[in-house]
Amino acid sequence: MVHLFNAGPAKVPDEVKEQIQSEFFNFAGSGISVIEISHRSPEFTALMNESNVNLREILEIPDNYRILWLAGGATGLFSSIPLNLITSKDDVLDYVVTGTWSKGAAKEAEKYANVNYVVPIPADFTGVPLEESMKFTPGAKYVFYCDNETVNGIEFPHILKTDSTIVCDMSSNFLSRAVDVQKYGAIFAGVQKNVAPAGLGVLIIREDLISADRLHQVPKVWDFKLQDAANSCLNTPNVFSLYVTNLVLKHLMKNGGLKRYSELSRQKSSAIYDIIDDSNGFYACKIDKDARSRMNVTFKLASKDLEAEFVKKAADLKIEGVKGHRSVGGIRASLYNAVTMESVNYLGDFMKSFQKNHE
Ligand code: PMP
Repeated sequence: MVHLFNAGPAKVPDEVKEQIQSEFFNFAGSGISVIEISHRSPEFTALMNESNVNLREILEIPDNYRILWLAGGATGLFSSIPLNLITSKDDVLDYVVTGTWSKGAAKEAEKYANVNYVVPIPADFTGVPLEESMKFTPGAKYVFYCDNETVNGIEFPHILKTDSTIVCDMSSNFLSRAVDVQKYGAIFAGVQKNVAPAGLGVLIIREDLISADRLHQVPKVWDFKLQDAANSCLNTPNVFSLYVTNLVLKHLMKNGGLKRYSELSRQKSSAIYDIIDDSNGFYACKIDKDARSRMNVTFKLASKDLEAEFVKKAADLKIEGVKGHRSVGGIRASLYNAVTMESVNYLGDFMKSFQKNHE
């Protein structure tokens, strides 16, 4: 058995994969495989409606929010959100940059809008900015931040404090803790971390923010108003990813919902951070303690050679996916919902014995 710590695409629960396998040739009693079924079929329409109901229940999404499933993943939403929300050339968008992905989102928005950086982009990402250092624009169209920076391993401990409409990228901590949806204008995620196969973005957006009165032309597939009216089926959606999404939503509900997964996330990440903190500097995590990600634990060893050996020895023991992102190096263990405590303990034991063998 492989212990998989991939950052995304990432582990899907074994039980869900078994179900996919068992019904692969016969989706919902149709005699047709889910990868062949029409997105206009009653079976698929039922699945789409059920996913919306399930997600609404899990996140307690109020009635005045719409759920859209869109092509292009989270990167697509970096573009489609400003394109759909900007209504005037004078609109200002506030961006809080805390890592690789929020920086990328801000650069994308600069193509279409006046972007204000709420804090200067730091030379190195090590935490979330202090409240008093953030300079929000009065009357900004929205303020954007990334709840969990997957590459850097930085997670907001709480919702951003601002009076503006919040747009939040939750790609890598989506469904890992309860969220008070009504405090946000929009929440979005690429599903390939905590949910399902890649290529699908989910957007939860307050309905008053979906308007036809936009400054820019919007590509039809990313037109929130059109996609909302078409129940996210304006064009052929990612049927397979939506199918797995619904299975994972049901799996999550059956296994205790967000309350349980949030507690598990805390336990799993603490187990690894404790080993780092008790290693006398053998493992070093530079992220401020209050902003350490529960999803992506990042750390370094004394040299690149030692890190390469760590990754190699881990692979020998069937621990996969722990190499840090190519842009920052080091080690990263992603502990999404489907990663079990057993796998985390296995990784922890390996870390301890690797340290012992190198001291
Ligand atoms: N935001 C975050 C926080 C991410 O981790 C990622 C992907 N790693 C993205 C956005 C981009 O997602 P996608 O690949 O689905 O476009």
